Amino acid sequence: MEEQEFDSLPLSQSLPLSQVSFRELWETVVTPSISTIPTADGAWRTDGPMDMLLMNDQVLAEGFDEDLFELPPEMSAKDGVTPPSSTVPVTTDYPGEYGFQLRFQKSGTAKSVTSTYSELLNKLYCQLAKTSPIEVLVRKDVPAGAIVRATAVYKKSEHVADVVRRCPHHQNEDTAEHRSHLIRVEGSQRAQYFEDPHTKRQSVTVPYEPPQLGSEITTILLSFMCNSSCMGGMNRRPILTILTLETPDGLVLGRRCFEVRVCACPGRDRKTEEENSTKTQNGTKHTKKRKSAPAAAPAPDTTSVKKSKPTSSAEEDDKDVFVLHVRGRERFEMLKKINDGLELLDKESKTKTKVSVKHELAVPSSGKRLPHRGERSDSD
Ligand SMILES: [Zn+2]
Repeated sequence: MEEQEFDSLPLSQSLPLSQVSFRELWETVVTPSISTIPTADGAWRTDGPMDMLLMNDQVLAEGFDEDLFELPPEMSAKDGVTPPSSTVPVTTDYPGEYGFQLRFQKSGTAKSVTSTYSELLNKLYCQLAKTSPIEVLVRKDVPAGAIVRATAVYKKSEHVADVVRRCPHHQNEDTAEHRSHLIRVEGSQRAQYFEDPHTKRQSVTVPYEPPQLGSEITTILLSFMCNSSCMGGMNRRPILTILTLETPDGLVLGRRCFEVRVCACPGRDRKTEEENSTKTQNGTKHTKKRKSAPAAAPAPDTTSVKKSKPTSSAEEDDKDVFVLHVRGRERFEMLKKINDGLELLDKESKTKTKVSVKHELAVPSSGKRLPHRGERSDSD
């Protein structure tokens, strides 16, 4: 096959090259622009190699520098050179030589909690615009002028190309200059908001402050300015928050990522999602039995559908409690109303049947045996 294809190539294709001079041939060679050479980590950079080139030229002009061929330690780390402005932000954890780490306060899953972190899911649950303290740890002193940058990115690959921004509604009701930013740094006048001119991705930075004397951590305060469910914004798409420790020049020294869900009930949602993740994946998520039936008699059948079923299985269906996870409070309240109504109907029909059963017990029609409690009467 291959030979055939090769033979069938027209001979004239290779002839012109052999007839030109070396100089002409040389001039036809296209040199790739150095600014588009991919870096070791596969990301295309438009500025990096050129910067290095200029830097080296400068050094040469000033005389020979013995450190010329020594790359700074950060540059040798494959992951560390990715600029924050890469088209798709990197979301892998990278402690780096400074051992960059995050810690979250243990807030539990109480109903009132406004921000809580799940170790199990590496996920922060917080309320809209409420402050989430995040503790930053490093193993040794970081270079002077280092910053911590927070960037949000969609978690799923089908959404990752979209830039995370606040929804139009929340942007419109805000007058802050950085009103389109989802992530805010609270409690620092030195927070700076950025939008990459090429990727349009937004981020916020704050100078890294070494821990106070006697402490090993630095706390930064983040708040998220939209709900995960905001229409026209995140629109229920899960996001990751990337925190990077960077030199003043934007060189990444360390990186940590965690998922974020901004919702009305962080404690409840964390509990639910943790429970779901630990459940076996056999599809039977729910089958908690009701502790006790309210009355001694089994619930009487009230529909024709159930009449046709064997009594035992119908009873099983009635006793089983099924858990339904509903997204959004409004929908939950709606479904709850429907369920409450059905429960009420059940109760009413039970009392009615009891009355009629009692009645039959009291005045049995002639020639009929007395129905046992709970047993259906033929005349029903
Ligand atoms: Zn919003």
